Amino acid sequence: QAKRAGGNRIEPFRPAFRNAGTDKLQIESDLRRALERKEISMVYQPIVDIESHDIAGFEALMRWEHPRRGSIPPSEFIPIAENSDLINRLGMFALQKACEDFGEWQRAIGELPLFVSVNLSSNQLLRNELYTDVRSVLTKTGCQPGNIKLELTETVVMQNPEQAARILERLKQLGIRLALDDFGTGHSSLSYLTRFPFDTIKLDQSLVRSPNDKQFVLLRSIIAMAQDLEMSIVAEGIETTEDADELAEMGCDYAQSFIFGPPIEKDSVIKLLREHFTLT
Ligand code: C2E
Ligand code: MG
Ligand code: MG
Ligand code: MG
Repeated sequence: QAKRAGGNRIEPFRPAFRNAGTDKLQIESDLRRALERKEISMVYQPIVDIESHDIAGFEALMRWEHPRRGSIPPSEFIPIAENSDLINRLGMFALQKACEDFGEWQRAIGELPLFVSVNLSSNQLLRNELYTDVRSVLTKTGCQPGNIKLELTETVVMQNPEQAARILERLKQLGIRLALDDFGTGHSSLSYLTRFPFDTIKLDQSLVRSPNDKQFVLLRSIIAMAQDLEMSIVAEGIETTEDADELAEMGCDYAQSFIFGPPIEKDSVIKLLREHFTLT
């Protein structure tokens, strides 16, 4: 049809768009049932001391095994969930599961001087019940607030800075630690460091992955600033041990990267910790 109408004319994209739309709707409705169908699980990626490579904690990352599509990455389904109340259910599941699993590790190995980090989305932060929900998860699972870290991005706190500051102060007073995730991807980052009670900055992969000379200058000053503000720094997605060593020299505290360990299931964490705590 298009050919006859005039040579190389490009067809309108509408059918494809409609497909993308229904696809999203389909994924959203599948996601609604995913929790009860036990398709959602959590994996844990080690966060290590950048010098000694000792394990300092883990980040809890969500996985979805779709019965027909196979595994769908969180970068695809989290944004869909964020458009609705779904993110609150998924988010609380993540926290609850991470606390339960942490308890299991402690029962297997003993008291662990480690933290487990859980990601928090903007809709969760804007909900009045967040604080009481978090407290009730801690009570139910017996998890100590000092073992929990919550990761938030700049976009998340930006949605409603006043409310975010209020709730983050309360969580912080409970003893939960807070990390500013994906640092270096936004614009107005600096004010967020003093406006909210963050303990940790997570340098985004884009800043850390084979940095050029200028990026190294930037990294150096971010790290110096974080040190002055008494925040710890995690570099995400470092690709070489040379880069890790260089970051360590600048004063970066921790690394989270495939080269130090990919995300693993909770039972593998026990094995890893067993080796780790008998070796050290
Ligand atoms: P994030 O919070 O920044 O998590 C770090 C991401 O970097 C993870 O991707 C992790 O697997 C990946 N990563 C770690 N080391 C390396 C490396 O050396 N190289 C590369 N290329 N990647 C590395 P993942 O698990 O696919 O998660 C992507 C994003 O999805 C997360 O980014 C986070 O924003 C979101 N997400 C994951 N789980 C949850 C969750 O439970 N709740 C919420 N709200 N968001 C989540
Ligand atoms: Mg994170
Ligand atoms: Mg990140
Ligand atoms: Mg990220």
